Amino acid sequence: MSNSSTTTNQRITFARSPRGLPVPEDFGRDVTPVPTVAEGQFLSRTLWLSLDPYYRNVMKNSQIYADRLAAGDVMVGETVAEVMESRHSQFAAGDIVAVRNGWQQYAVSSGQGVRKLDASSAPLGAALGVLGMPGLTGYAGTVYLGRPLPGQTFVVSACTGPVGTTAGQVARHMGARVVGIAGSAAKCEYAVNELGFVACVNYKDGDLTAALKQACPDGIDVYFDNVGGDTLAAVTRNLALGARIVLCGMIEAYSMDTPPPGPWLGPIVGARATMSGLVVYDHMNRMPEMVKLISAWIRDGQFRYREDVSEGIASAPQAFCALMRGGNFGKALVRVGPERLPQG
Ligand code: NAP
Repeated sequence: MSNSSTTTNQRITFARSPRGLPVPEDFGRDVTPVPTVAEGQFLSRTLWLSLDPYYRNVMKNSQIYADRLAAGDVMVGETVAEVMESRHSQFAAGDIVAVRNGWQQYAVSSGQGVRKLDASSAPLGAALGVLGMPGLTGYAGTVYLGRPLPGQTFVVSACTGPVGTTAGQVARHMGARVVGIAGSAAKCEYAVNELGFVACVNYKDGDLTAALKQACPDGIDVYFDNVGGDTLAAVTRNLALGARIVLCGMIEAYSMDTPPPGPWLGPIVGARATMSGLVVYDHMNRMPEMVKLISAWIRDGQFRYREDVSEGIASAPQAFCALMRGGNFGKALVRVGPERLPQG
């Protein structure tokens, strides 16, 4: 390896499918040799690991994900990494890439699906949050499915995470009146004071249907749903005529063994509302458009985001379990290795 004499690779593995909310015992740990590079591959050192709610569904080993995990397999996941050694014509040592290294310090890649990053344009962790897959989800779901008009009321749940932060601020830039839903007073304060939402409702604080009625007196024109369940039910009781609901995530149900019954859909009829399912992978061609727009807003101070960073690969199971309980405040990331290795 070019810059490092390290020969061991710490990994977090899949141990078993969680029952209910995940616990650290659902994961294992091991140490292997750093993999060697074959022709057409490169070796990279993980800098940042993304923690995403969908990993909980991957751990169910449901058929909808391409990833299948057996006990002892390294946990899958998106990362930002530095290329250390390359036998691939399009990657060189020193390149910074977005690559699916999973929950480990080193991995080899064939280059498929790998995105080169410009380390000078934005902090690297953003490529896993607001300038990556979650940001694209919030952007595409708002611009192409939710389509808020100026002055319309746009409501977004899990509004301080990377998807919600992006959806809400994109809607604000489109001229909508944005109302957040979040799980603590601190998150709501941040949504109003930093993200520029007109209001934010803490769904753990009393009657959500009544609080939404107060925050959205003319009804909800667009709802960007990141959680499903009781929150979705409360929103449907407050819809404006012709409302659009973007079904993005159902985190409330990810840790349940049996999906809960859906909300009563009568109000959808009354409001002549439409619901559309969002899958970010249908919009991957829009990544450059999203990155260009949102990185310009970040540079101009017109777009804010938070990261919730835990330190070291060993902290990943605990941090993931916290995320699945709403314990994160901002994009959940693990700092796996330093962005610059000490010289010498
Ligand atoms: P995130 O907001 O950083 O984290 C999840 C948040 O969900 C928690 O912090 C918590 O925030 C909230 N939450 C609400 N009810 C919860 C419950 N019962 N249990 C645990 N958490 C609860 O996550 P993200 O990465 O931005 O993702 C947001 C949603 O988008 C997720 O549902 C995810 O699966 C979905 N998603 C969908 C696509 C797609 O293609 N459709 C792509 C990416 C992500 P509060 O404390 O504010 O409630």
